[in-house]
Amino acid sequence: MEIVSLLLFATAALFFLGLIYAAFVSFKENESRAARFFLFFLLDPILVFAFLYFEYPYKTEILSVILIMYWGIALFLFFPIGKRKDFQNPKPTNRIDERDIMFSRAELKEGTDRFQTYYERNPQKKGLDDLFRKNPGLLSLNASLAHELAFASADASFETIGALKGEVDGIVAKTRTKASSQEITKYIKSWANKLGAVDCGITLLQDYHLYAVGGRAERYNKIYEKKHAFAIAFTVEMDHRMMQSAPKASAIMESAQQYLESGRIAVQVAHFIRKLGYEARAHIDGNYEVVCPLVARDAGLGEIGRMGLLMTPNLGPRVRISVVTTNLPLLVDAPSNDFSMIDFCTKCKKCADACPSQAISFGNQKELNGVMRWQINQEACFTYWTSIGTDCGRCVSVCPFSHHNNTLHNMVRKGIQNSSTFRSIAVELDDLIYKRKPTSKPLPDWMN
Ligand code: SF4
Ligand code: SF4
Repeated sequence: MEIVSLLLFATAALFFLGLIYAAFVSFKENESRAARFFLFFLLDPILVFAFLYFEYPYKTEILSVILIMYWGIALFLFFPIGKRKDFQNPKPTNRIDERDIMFSRAELKEGTDRFQTYYERNPQKKGLDDLFRKNPGLLSLNASLAHELAFASADASFETIGALKGEVDGIVAKTRTKASSQEITKYIKSWANKLGAVDCGITLLQDYHLYAVGGRAERYNKIYEKKHAFAIAFTVEMDHRMMQSAPKASAIMESAQQYLESGRIAVQVAHFIRKLGYEARAHIDGNYEVVCPLVARDAGLGEIGRMGLLMTPNLGPRVRISVVTTNLPLLVDAPSNDFSMIDFCTKCKKCADACPSQAISFGNQKELNGVMRWQINQEACFTYWTSIGTDCGRCVSVCPFSHHNNTLHNMVRKGIQNSSTFRSIAVELDDLIYKRKPTSKPLPDWMN
């Protein structure tokens, strides 16, 4: 066999096997449409095998053109174009007031001083909040997507997180460890992994990481000052199958579970640091003094995407975050400053298309408080949650970055990181393979 035929045979065989692997993985991922797509494309290498098998005029020339096309396309897509090494994450100039977030507003009770004071200060928010107050509410059995057992499970997770509340801070041992920053940093990262975190990053704690004023429970109206120099962020994975059924009840069950898992890791690590003789405070669901996505971004764990959530390199927004702030000296990580993710979000807009409450913007990033970013309509999002009873998560489930962390999807992620052309094509391909508005899957069998 001459060299061109041999090279083309090897290329087509590689492509053939790649497609079989992609179809197999898609079946396992419960994505039958994607599997059918990859099986259909087997026609391409099969056609090339036919070209190799039969005899016809100018065969070598035709095979050479096909070979060049294959490798030309591959090189073009993976060749680094559109990388912006100068890209720097913007630093917010203002701090967020926790009293303005929806969970805080939902805790305001009509007829109380807090309720009156808040809406005197923010009269424009009263009408918006009256809308969600008319709805059944999160985890209400009168909500449209109510599921008795799943809601009870989610509530159980939230109550277990509540039980950790007293553990976020505590007494510090009198004797300080002699271990070096390098040793402890390495130890914490490896241990966090063993405890169930998919990633762990460390940053210097900045003023803008902290809420300006507390907005939940006994922390309402509390002014936060920076007490610690370092912040450790942990991410845990949300189960792909549970999120595939979002906005159904499995979504809130899973997010509650992963709030608990990430919170448990933070509480455990904070306890550990206090035993080493340094202050440490865990920031867990319902008990944050910091804005977790901002801390995690600066700790190098990802970027903030169109839906306002942390987008991690291998799981996208399909994670939950917890944080520990401490005065234990640690080695800090560099932010990823990954322009490719911001650029992909600029092109993609899939979450905006799929959002049932139209809370996600289709536009480009805008300057808000001196920072270029996207901001979702939190009132629209939360009002929708209170009508269905779950925390929706549809944006998380449809995001192309939320696919499984495996070779198939990581190759696509690599291409996205590498090339602007690849990013444009990846958006179209994701729509073609998984649909622009993927159908929400039925609840996992065991939940029925
Ligand atoms: S769905 Fe698309 S636009 Fe939305 S966060 Fe994910 S990548 Fe960005
Ligand atoms: S959680 Fe649901 S309603 Fe809220 S932004 Fe995401 S898709 Fe929209």
